[in-house]
Amino acid sequence: MKRALNFNAGPAALPEAVLQKAQQEWLNIEDTGMSVMELSHRSQTFENIHNKAISLLKEIMDIPDNYEILFLQGGASLQFSMVPMNLLSTGKKAYYVLTGSWSEKALNEAGKIGDTAVAASAKDTNYTYIPSADEISFGEDAAYVHITTNNTIFGTQWNNYPVLEEVPLVADMSSDILSKKIDISKFGLIYAGAQKNLGPSGVTVVIIRKDLVNSSLTNLPTMLNYETHIKNNSLYNTPPTLAIYLLSLVLEWVKDQGGVEVLQENNTAKAKLIYDAIDNSEGFYKGHAQPESRSHMNVTFTLPDEAATKKFLEEAKLAGFVGLNGHRSVGGCRASIYNAVPLSHCEKLVGFMKNFKESYS
Ligand code: PMP
Repeated sequence: MKRALNFNAGPAALPEAVLQKAQQEWLNIEDTGMSVMELSHRSQTFENIHNKAISLLKEIMDIPDNYEILFLQGGASLQFSMVPMNLLSTGKKAYYVLTGSWSEKALNEAGKIGDTAVAASAKDTNYTYIPSADEISFGEDAAYVHITTNNTIFGTQWNNYPVLEEVPLVADMSSDILSKKIDISKFGLIYAGAQKNLGPSGVTVVIIRKDLVNSSLTNLPTMLNYETHIKNNSLYNTPPTLAIYLLSLVLEWVKDQGGVEVLQENNTAKAKLIYDAIDNSEGFYKGHAQPESRSHMNVTFTLPDEAATKKFLEEAKLAGFVGLNGHRSVGGCRASIYNAVPLSHCEKLVGFMKNFKESYS
């Protein structure tokens, strides 16, 4: 069966084993005679799937007991609003580190809810780097500091998260959650749309430290209040049952691979292969990100000119590669190499890049 060499930025490649398991269970899950989409979300079968996904995520990410795990809808984009709605109280300010378009969007949405400020910004270089700890500034009025741990469009990624002492660190981890081991206790709140490393689109994971949940937000719309979802184990209304089921299969797959430590090693090896091909191309390929800020999830690079880029993308398509075109704000190409993209596909890409460079004149 033909499977694409899928380098899409999201929705993105899923593990083949996950798709096969879903296929096996498609018509009849757990002997119910129904597909997972036909089950009541109040049925024991679905509740077991839902609770298994929560407990697997807790185990795999080593999430301490003083955190709640939520499965919400509305994508990471709704979290741009829910975070300030729930965490930004009057008299306080939300500080944002700008490292790309998604952080800008998060800041703009927060500005509609309350007072905001920029804690640091890499915009002056078209987002080629991650600001260092001493560039980040915030006041005593800080409700939280927000970062985007991986910048999907520009191809930069945080290596060392800022240490903020008392101020909660809020992180949009949409494009690198589960790609490496992290210390959850450094964060007040983490959110991530699922459609890169976690599963299909349609479910958004939120991990929130319990003491940050504000029980006095009685005027907030019910669905936008974290407390609603905490009190109801994310089953206040009908959840995206298919997406949660697929998330549970992806989490089982992560465990089968040996956990995030093993994925981290694989991701490092995959990224190194492609960055080496860029660095050893005598300037034919140029990385967008500065080397110390390079993402292990989205490798962004340019070619000598528009004509070369166009030809590269056309030939790549004919060779079976999908999703290599860069975002218009960076230009060039982007290879998204999330957890489910195998090393062999990265090797094929590197081979293609070398051949293209040699044959291009
Ligand atoms: N943040 C980041 C880092 C992203 O990459 C994306 C989507 N690509 C978003 C937020 C927006 O996510 P969603 O489409 O789930 O709202």
